[in-house]
Amino acid sequence: MIVAVVGAGVMGSATARALAGHDVTLYEQFRVGHDRGSSHGRSRIVRLAYPEVEFVQLAKEAFRGWRELEQESGVELLELNGLLELVEDAAQSSRDALDAVGAEYALLAADEANARWPVGVPDGWTALFQPEAGIVRADLAHRALVDSALASGAHLEEDTPVGSLDEVDADVVVVTAGSWVTRLVPDLPVRTTRETVAYFRRAGEPLPSVVQLDPETRDHAMYSLHDPLHGLKAGAHHAGAAANPDDAGEPDPTLVDRITEWVVRTYPDAEPEPVLAETCMYTTTADEHFILERRGRLVIGSACSGHGFKFAPAIGRRLASLALAPG
Ligand SMILES: Cc1cc2nc3c(=O)[nH]c(=O)nc-3n(C[C@H](O)[C@H](O)[C@H](O)COP(=O)(O)OP(=O)(O)OC[C@H]3O[C@@H](n4cnc5c(N)ncnc54)[C@H](O)[C@@H]3O)c2cc1C
Repeated sequence: MIVAVVGAGVMGSATARALAGHDVTLYEQFRVGHDRGSSHGRSRIVRLAYPEVEFVQLAKEAFRGWRELEQESGVELLELNGLLELVEDAAQSSRDALDAVGAEYALLAADEANARWPVGVPDGWTALFQPEAGIVRADLAHRALVDSALASGAHLEEDTPVGSLDEVDADVVVVTAGSWVTRLVPDLPVRTTRETVAYFRRAGEPLPSVVQLDPETRDHAMYSLHDPLHGLKAGAHHAGAAANPDDAGEPDPTLVDRITEWVVRTYPDAEPEPVLAETCMYTTTADEHFILERRGRLVIGSACSGHGFKFAPAIGRRLASLALAPG
């Protein structure tokens, strides 16, 4: 089977790897590791804690995939220091879904959590601590996926933008084009935003990743995770403005202020001023679930909504299966 994969971000790279044994070409308009899309940077949160059982199970499958890639590459990719899910009301936490799959967790009152970690849990709130969580070393993981695909015979065409899918000479074309996906699949129901993250110097031992929920929407409001270089990375979830990925973009100063204000309240041992801010693109569906579908010769993989990276090994497998299924 001749398969073309358009877009060598973490999803395209995971798919090319999962297509080992087939004639695979991975097209990338820039160079692997560029910072214009969604997969760049040193770290991403990995977690099992989701309110939906299907995401807990998908995360479990992906964890096994990351462990296999660690074995294959000899590189440590997961650093599991746990997750603190901060909720005003414990009923809004992921406890029910974790119970449903028998995953371990502890519900801690704010003072209990504050006593264990230098993380400011708001008074009266609850912290759900889940140990199977922390960070994936994003840049190392992305590179390991690409190297694994190349080792099993895939061809990588960098600096090669695919203008139209009709020009691609392959039996099946997998489109994992991130925020550019609607250029190739115009009717896909996604919206693209440019998000802002900031980095802070923090010297202490790596802490659990943190997601703080908005009591009104139950959505993630603020999040933070260990950064291997500076110590702490933080962001405001789904706070960025609608954006065209081809436009140059700068971090939003209002968001940098909002993130800094939260970090100062939450991390007493972090430096109060950010050392760096950067942008990254979200491609979001209405329900924040992933689009993984086959349409004739096309397979479409749009798995982002600001939470896709952790699932890459599992998403890659699903897109490869769709590509190899009888058309
Ligand atoms: C600020 C931020 C924080 C995040 N935090 C987390 C987190 O903590 N945990 C988590 O699990 N996920 C997180 N995510 C989400 C995660 O990073 C994304 O879901 C994931 O990186 C999406 O990967 P992708 O391969 O679909 O997209 P991309 O990495 O953008 O890859 C798409 C690639 O396609 C290429 N391309 C596009 N069009 C063409 C074309 N026509 N021809 C050739 N190449 C083309 C692009 O250049 C790009 O390299 C976060 C995302 C952001 C932005």
